[in-house]
Amino acid sequence: MRESSPNHRSSAIPRSDTNDSSWRNELRGAYRDVDALLDDLGLTQADLPEPIDPKSSFAFLVPRAFVSRMKPGDPGDPLLMQVLPLLRERDDDARLTGDPLEESSFVHGPLISKYQGRVLVVATGACMVNCRYCFRRSFPYSNHVASPEALEAGLAALVEHSPLEEVILSGGDPWVLDDSRLAELVEVVERVAAPRSVRFHTRVPIVLPSRVTDALLEVLSGSRCGVVVVVHVNHANEIDDDVMAALARLKPACRALLNQSVLLRGVNDSAAALMALSWRLHEAGVQPYYLHLTDPVEGSGHFQVDAERGRDVIAEMARQMPGYLVPRLVREDPGAESKTPL
Ligand code: SF4
Repeated sequence: MRESSPNHRSSAIPRSDTNDSSWRNELRGAYRDVDALLDDLGLTQADLPEPIDPKSSFAFLVPRAFVSRMKPGDPGDPLLMQVLPLLRERDDDARLTGDPLEESSFVHGPLISKYQGRVLVVATGACMVNCRYCFRRSFPYSNHVASPEALEAGLAALVEHSPLEEVILSGGDPWVLDDSRLAELVEVVERVAAPRSVRFHTRVPIVLPSRVTDALLEVLSGSRCGVVVVVHVNHANEIDDDVMAALARLKPACRALLNQSVLLRGVNDSAAALMALSWRLHEAGVQPYYLHLTDPVEGSGHFQVDAERGRDVIAEMARQMPGYLVPRLVREDPGAESKTPL
């Protein structure tokens, strides 16, 4: 029998002053046009070191809350670099592929089953920001997004053979979904799979902190499983006061609040940048967890950092800061039974 840990909402959770309609309105106002964003930063395309791709098949999408943390007039801003659709994404590069983790071999309906005792749910194909290095930028979401019915059938078939310790809601970003759909998916997971832990992978609290509403916290706190939230921050500048406040609201609703980052050339590939990030996460009550090498997805060639450089950076961090603030450097190898520590 599985451990069941009621995770009722603590009265210590600070109240949010935003609601469902305010974050949706904010999302509707996100930048979908590169020139508009550059203009608001006091830049033009001529200021950029490289040309923009005006016809990228991977859409441009950036919430204003995230842009508000970019430095006006700086074409090399580390947050801006993560979202600009450069023409260079089209470069031929034999190292790169559309399906770098060979997930097409592991996806069945809405479930991606790679590791023992865990399964990942493709909760949605949508995100609130489109990160240019995303390893699922070419994922065929329309064939795999979870309806409650498909999720129930997929989980039932899996647990018939072996129990699941953890179910991970990912995507896309599961917190793009409205709270009722999210609650519905969590209910199916708990009823059918009864895992010890329900984990969410989300960048939403970082790029649109107003999404961390009381209603979302109710969904998390209502879970009978231990809720684990893994946010995604790559640079210390991504955490401003609003993000701090959102993470503070989130923390009491989680059994663990972790961060995963991607090692990105020109964004965070130095010990100084990653140490600043780890301290900022620490101040926000978030545990640094993984530092991923960029997966070799098409369009990400300009972000790639090799493993040797990654090891040097981690070694420098280990020399200069407490071990609990040094993330684990990992690479994901298709078909491997776990992530590969480096
Ligand atoms: S938020 Fe995550 S899933 Fe969405 S584009 Fe960025 S890296 Fe990809």
